[in-house]
Amino acid sequence: MDPVALVALGSVGAAALLLAVGLQRGGAPRAARAGARAAPDAVQARARAAAAEERATAAARDVGVLVDLVGIGVVRVAEDLTVVTANETAARLLARSAAGLPGRSVMEAFTDHRLEEIVQAALRTGAAAGELTIRTTDAPTLLVRARRTPGGDAWLVLEDVSELRRLQRIRTEFIDNLAHELRTPLTTVSLLAETLALDAAQLPPRTAERIAKIEVETGHLVQMVNELLDLSKIESGSAALVLHDVDLARLANATVERLSLFAERQGVRLVVDAEGVVPRVRGDEERLGQALLNLLHNAVKFSPTGAEVLVRVAASEHEAVVAVVDHGPGIPRAALPRVFERFYKGDRARTRGVGGTGLGLSIARHVVEAHGGRIWVESEEGIGSTFAFALPLTGPDLAATPGA
Ligand code: ADP
Repeated sequence: MDPVALVALGSVGAAALLLAVGLQRGGAPRAARAGARAAPDAVQARARAAAAEERATAAARDVGVLVDLVGIGVVRVAEDLTVVTANETAARLLARSAAGLPGRSVMEAFTDHRLEEIVQAALRTGAAAGELTIRTTDAPTLLVRARRTPGGDAWLVLEDVSELRRLQRIRTEFIDNLAHELRTPLTTVSLLAETLALDAAQLPPRTAERIAKIEVETGHLVQMVNELLDLSKIESGSAALVLHDVDLARLANATVERLSLFAERQGVRLVVDAEGVVPRVRGDEERLGQALLNLLHNAVKFSPTGAEVLVRVAASEHEAVVAVVDHGPGIPRAALPRVFERFYKGDRARTRGVGGTGLGLSIARHVVEAHGGRIWVESEEGIGSTFAFALPLTGPDLAATPGA
């Protein structure tokens, strides 16, 4: 089932559980008290109310059964961080009995301090989420979403994502292995095509043309394989970041320099604006340079001849922001949420013949997120695009230093 639908169902179930708990607690004593003072003409009304209450309780239990059936754990936690109620699925995921959970502290129930932090954040801000692996024999990976209730408690919805994460790991390993296997033969073919192209002058024009095509296409394949390897390394976290104090203005100038030949060939002017305060961040200079290179390469690739591409480096109180502004064709509104996906490629006709792998932005996103930053795009068709990323500033001593 669609995870969104599952969560929606979870919320319905959670509401029903609340209803059920409330009814179970309050229903009987109220009825007994009312019975003692009953006037004869109220007997019928009371009977109707009792029947309605019974129906509501049954409906709530019914939804509870449904929530268990779809495999979503639902837990209600009081303000003092003790469990008020939990359904069967939650108990199963935590390897406990449902009856044994109420009254326990969340630390006891989940044996993970991160869960306590999620609940505290939800109680403070209204909502919080996180992922954790429970230390039981099955060790399930749980996606936990917490919401504060109007009464000041919190609802937790637990989704078992172990299988999803396992499949994602297998996919990454498969792509990694495949890319490794492809790299050596492809590099050889690419080098051979390059060597053949050197003798193009002595070859018949059609043969020379075909060799040039082989050279270009194998070049794309080599690039794609290298980018796939980079991406899987970054995604799996095996490429540990080598952290230094990075001067983003210097990085912007160095990246522009690396792309100057390509920009010249495309007839595009590159400009850096890093006036005034130049922020420094703690980061992996090579990786950040790669992310910026990918954004800048796209900006040049999509710009018309004679256009200008601007790289702007600026700082706010907590973040350094690097933006790449172009006057290219812009990105259709419908495509905007997809451009950072791996292998997403827009209309080839817009790139003035320069192909791509659809991995550049995906790599940039992973690099930026690995640094605790965020990346985004603003674009309007016919006007241009601005791709930007923000990185947290390190602290007062590194936050900002006077201009380069
Ligand atoms: P590609 O190798 O295709 O450039 P990317 O991941 O770098 O892959 O970009 C994905 C897609 O996003 C591109 O195919 C293109 O449609 C769109 N895109 C990226 N940058 C720009 C830009 N500066 N202007 C217009 N479209 C862009």
